[in-house]
Amino acid sequence: MSFTLPELPYGYNALEAAIDAKTMEIHHSKHHNTYVTNLNNAIADSELEGQDLETLVKQAGSLSAAVRNNGGGHWNHTFFWELMTPNSTTPSGALATAINSTFGDLETFKTQFTQAGLTRFGSGWAWLIINTSGQLQITSTPNQDNPLMDIAEVKGTPILGLDVWEHAYYLRYQNRRPDYIKAWWEVVNWDKVAQLYSDSQ
Ligand code: MN
Repeated sequence: MSFTLPELPYGYNALEAAIDAKTMEIHHSKHHNTYVTNLNNAIADSELEGQDLETLVKQAGSLSAAVRNNGGGHWNHTFFWELMTPNSTTPSGALATAINSTFGDLETFKTQFTQAGLTRFGSGWAWLIINTSGQLQITSTPNQDNPLMDIAEVKGTPILGLDVWEHAYYLRYQNRRPDYIKAWWEVVNWDKVAQLYSDSQ
Protein backbone atom coordinates (compact mmCIF):
# COMPACT_ATOMS: atom_id res chain seq x y z
CA MET A 1 0.00 0.00 0.00
CA SER A 2 1.35 3.42 -0.90
CA PHE A 3 0.75 6.91 0.40
CA THR A 4 -1.80 9.13 -1.31
CA LEU A 5 -2.40 12.88 -1.51
CA PRO A 6 -5.20 13.80 0.93
CA GLU A 7 -8.04 16.01 -0.24
CA LEU A 8 -8.20 19.50 1.25
CA PRO A 9 -11.04 20.05 3.74
CA TYR A 10 -12.01 23.22 1.76
CA GLY A 11 -11.67 24.61 -1.76
CA TYR A 12 -8.51 26.15 -3.18
CA ASN A 13 -10.15 29.59 -2.96
CA ALA A 14 -11.45 29.18 0.61
CA LEU A 15 -8.50 30.87 2.31
CA GLU A 16 -8.29 33.93 0.02
CA ALA A 17 -8.24 36.17 3.08
CA ALA A 18 -4.67 34.98 3.62
CA ILE A 19 -3.59 32.67 0.79
CA ASP A 20 -4.64 33.00 -2.85
CA ALA A 21 -6.25 30.11 -4.73
CA LYS A 22 -3.38 29.69 -7.20
CA THR A 23 -0.87 29.30 -4.38
CA MET A 24 -3.11 26.77 -2.65
CA GLU A 25 -3.58 24.81 -5.87
CA ILE A 26 0.13 24.65 -6.71
CA HIS A 27 1.09 23.98 -3.10
CA HIS A 28 -1.33 21.08 -2.75
CA SER A 29 -1.52 19.52 -6.22
CA LYS A 30 2.13 20.03 -7.17
CA HIS A 31 4.39 20.47 -4.14
CA HIS A 32 2.59 18.16 -1.72
CA ASN A 33 1.83 15.66 -4.47
CA THR A 34 5.51 15.52 -5.39
CA TYR A 35 6.46 14.68 -1.79
CA VAL A 36 3.94 11.82 -1.88
CA THR A 37 5.21 10.50 -5.21
CA ASN A 38 8.86 10.75 -4.21
CA LEU A 39 8.18 9.14 -0.83
CA ASN A 40 6.46 6.19 -2.46
CA ASN A 41 9.34 5.79 -4.90
CA ALA A 42 11.90 6.03 -2.10
CA ILE A 43 10.33 3.29 0.05
CA ALA A 44 9.27 0.97 -2.78
CA ASP A 45 10.46 -2.60 -2.24
CA SER A 46 12.21 -1.70 1.03
CA GLU A 47 11.47 -2.75 4.61
CA LEU A 48 9.92 0.71 5.13
CA GLU A 49 7.03 -0.04 2.80
CA GLY A 50 3.83 -0.52 4.77
CA GLN A 51 4.86 1.51 7.83
CA ASP A 52 2.48 4.27 8.82
CA LEU A 53 3.66 7.81 8.15
CA GLU A 54 4.21 8.88 11.76
CA THR A 55 6.23 5.76 12.57
CA LEU A 56 8.30 6.46 9.50
CA VAL A 57 9.12 10.11 10.21
CA LYS A 58 9.99 9.41 13.86
CA GLN A 59 12.99 7.38 12.65
CA ALA A 60 14.31 10.23 10.52
CA GLY A 61 17.86 9.90 11.83
CA SER A 62 18.24 6.47 10.29
CA LEU A 63 16.42 7.23 7.03
CA SER A 64 17.84 8.19 3.66
CA ALA A 65 17.59 11.88 2.74
CA ALA A 66 14.87 11.03 0.21
CA VAL A 67 12.66 9.30 2.79
CA ARG A 68 13.34 11.88 5.50
CA ASN A 69 12.61 14.88 3.26
CA ASN A 70 9.63 13.48 1.39
CA GLY A 71 8.19 11.68 4.40
CA GLY A 72 8.49 14.88 6.40
CA GLY A 73 7.00 16.82 3.52
CA HIS A 74 4.00 14.51 3.35
CA TRP A 75 3.40 14.53 7.12
CA ASN A 76 3.90 18.30 7.48
CA HIS A 77 1.55 19.28 4.65
CA THR A 78 -1.16 16.80 5.63
CA PHE A 79 -1.02 18.39 9.10
CA PHE A 80 -0.90 21.97 7.78
CA TRP A 81 -4.05 21.74 5.63
CA GLU A 82 -6.12 20.62 8.61
CA LEU A 83 -4.94 23.61 10.65
CA MET A 84 -6.55 26.20 8.41
CA THR A 85 -10.19 27.12 7.87
CA PRO A 86 -12.20 29.87 6.19
CA ASN A 87 -14.25 30.11 9.40
CA SER A 88 -13.40 32.52 12.19
CA THR A 89 -12.19 30.63 15.26
CA THR A 90 -10.45 31.44 18.54
CA PRO A 91 -8.56 29.35 21.11
CA SER A 92 -10.93 27.78 23.60
CA GLY A 93 -11.09 25.59 26.68
CA ALA A 94 -7.96 23.89 27.99
CA LEU A 95 -5.91 25.17 25.06
CA ALA A 96 -6.74 28.80 25.82
CA THR A 97 -5.87 28.25 29.47
CA ALA A 98 -2.55 26.62 28.57
CA ILE A 99 -1.61 29.40 26.12
CA ASN A 100 -2.32 32.05 28.72
CA SER A 101 -0.45 30.27 31.50
CA THR A 102 2.57 29.51 29.27
CA PHE A 103 2.91 32.72 27.25
CA GLY A 104 0.92 35.30 29.23
CA ASP A 105 -1.74 35.91 26.62
CA LEU A 106 -2.67 35.04 23.04
CA GLU A 107 -1.04 38.12 21.51
CA THR A 108 2.29 37.33 23.17
CA PHE A 109 2.08 33.76 21.92
CA LYS A 110 1.35 34.95 18.37
CA THR A 111 4.26 37.39 18.50
CA GLN A 112 6.68 34.68 19.65
CA PHE A 113 5.40 32.12 17.13
CA THR A 114 5.64 34.71 14.34
CA GLN A 115 9.22 35.41 15.40
CA ALA A 116 10.04 31.70 15.13
CA GLY A 117 8.70 31.72 11.58
CA LEU A 118 10.53 34.89 10.63
CA THR A 119 13.88 33.79 12.01
CA ARG A 120 13.82 30.34 10.41
CA PHE A 121 16.53 30.96 7.80
CA GLY A 122 15.72 29.63 4.35
CA SER A 123 12.98 27.01 4.19
CA GLY A 124 11.26 25.35 7.11
CA TRP A 125 8.44 25.36 9.60
CA ALA A 126 7.38 27.04 12.84
CA TRP A 127 5.62 24.85 15.40
CA LEU A 128 3.64 24.92 18.61
CA ILE A 129 4.31 21.62 20.33
CA ILE A 130 3.63 19.82 23.56
CA ASN A 131 7.18 19.08 24.61
CA THR A 132 8.47 16.00 26.40
CA SER A 133 7.73 17.71 29.76
CA GLY A 134 4.09 18.18 28.76
CA GLN A 135 4.47 21.94 28.31
CA LEU A 136 3.53 24.10 25.35
CA GLN A 137 6.63 25.28 23.49
CA ILE A 138 7.38 27.16 20.28
CA THR A 139 10.07 25.77 18.01
CA SER A 140 11.07 25.65 14.36
CA THR A 141 12.68 23.13 12.05
CA PRO A 142 14.60 23.39 8.75
CA ASN A 143 13.47 21.96 5.40
CA GLN A 144 10.78 19.30 5.89
CA ASP A 145 11.92 18.18 9.33
CA ASN A 146 9.43 18.27 12.22
CA PRO A 147 9.43 17.88 16.01
CA LEU A 148 8.32 14.24 15.85
CA MET A 149 11.68 13.34 14.33
CA ASP A 150 14.36 11.76 16.49
CA ILE A 151 16.86 14.25 15.04
CA ALA A 152 14.81 17.35 15.96
CA GLU A 153 16.61 19.81 18.27
CA VAL A 154 13.37 20.25 20.23
CA LYS A 155 11.09 17.22 20.23
CA GLY A 156 7.39 16.99 20.95
CA THR A 157 3.91 16.59 19.56
CA PRO A 158 2.93 19.36 17.12
CA ILE A 159 -0.49 20.98 17.60
CA LEU A 160 0.09 23.91 15.21
CA GLY A 161 2.47 24.28 12.29
CA LEU A 162 3.26 26.97 9.77
CA ASP A 163 4.94 26.41 6.43
CA VAL A 164 7.42 29.25 5.81
CA TRP A 165 8.86 27.89 2.56
CA GLU A 166 8.66 30.56 -0.14
CA HIS A 167 6.43 28.24 -2.19
CA ALA A 168 3.76 28.80 0.51
CA TYR A 169 3.48 32.55 -0.10
CA TYR A 170 5.61 33.85 -2.98
CA LEU A 171 2.89 34.52 -5.58
CA ARG A 172 1.01 37.00 -3.40
CA TYR A 173 3.64 38.12 -0.93
CA GLN A 174 6.94 37.73 -2.85
CA ASN A 175 9.70 38.19 -0.24
CA ARG A 176 7.35 39.56 2.44
CA ARG A 177 7.19 36.64 4.85
CA PRO A 178 6.00 38.94 7.70
CA ASP A 179 2.88 39.90 5.70
CA TYR A 180 2.13 36.25 4.93
CA ILE A 181 2.38 35.24 8.58
CA LYS A 182 0.29 38.20 9.72
CA ALA A 183 -2.48 37.24 7.30
CA TRP A 184 -2.19 33.52 8.11
CA TRP A 185 -3.41 34.08 11.66
CA GLU A 186 -6.80 34.97 10.15
CA VAL A 187 -7.26 31.42 8.82
CA VAL A 188 -5.85 29.34 11.68
CA ASN A 189 -8.28 26.61 12.69
CA TRP A 190 -8.16 27.07 16.46
CA ASP A 191 -10.85 24.42 16.92
CA LYS A 192 -8.47 21.88 15.40
CA VAL A 193 -5.57 23.09 17.57
CA ALA A 194 -7.77 22.80 20.68
CA GLN A 195 -8.77 19.28 19.66
CA LEU A 196 -5.15 18.23 19.14
CA TYR A 197 -4.26 19.70 22.53
CA SER A 198 -7.09 17.86 24.28
CA ASP A 199 -6.26 14.60 22.52
CA SER A 200 -2.71 14.79 23.87
CA GLN A 201 -3.75 15.28 27.52
MN1 MN B 1 4.92 23.64 1.61
